Amino acid sequence: MGTIKDIVDLSTQLANSVSDRKITADLNRIQSLTLQLQAEEADLHETNMKLREELLEVKTENNKLAAKIDQNNSWEEQLVEYELVTTEGRATVYQFKGNPVHYACPSCISKKQIQILQDGRNIAGSFKCPGCEVVFPVNPAKRKSPPKVRSSRNPLRY
Ligand SMILES: [Zn+2]
Repeated sequence: MGTIKDIVDLSTQLANSVSDRKITADLNRIQSLTLQLQAEEADLHETNMKLREELLEVKTENNKLAAKIDQNNSWEEQLVEYELVTTEGRATVYQFKGNPVHYACPSCISKKQIQILQDGRNIAGSFKCPGCEVVFPVNPAKRKSPPKVRSSRNPLRY
């Protein structure tokens, strides 16, 4: 910007000191072209500022997306450890492929949460999700068998 002002000032000085009309006209033309250049430069400056803002927005968005991808990848890595099974009690749940064997709530998995089903230790054989509290019939229901009969028949063996 300073350079353009210097050129305008210099051409004004020259135009004032030169008596030749042709040269004066040329100097005025240079001055007007220089002012046009100055306007274009201001436009370019504004465009540059806008582009910088846009670049910043794109970078921010990019960081957000990269974080999302990371999150998704770690979720995929977690989920691959489980498979959907139907248990003996006819519950359809996710079962951990490794050890210790445990089950995860399918409803919570759809919300990207792994909730390990807790054994209710009841005769219904049900497990409860600590997240959504839904109960799943993981194990088959136990029939109340009279233990006295077994123990009386075979008191030493269980
Ligand atoms: Zn759940």
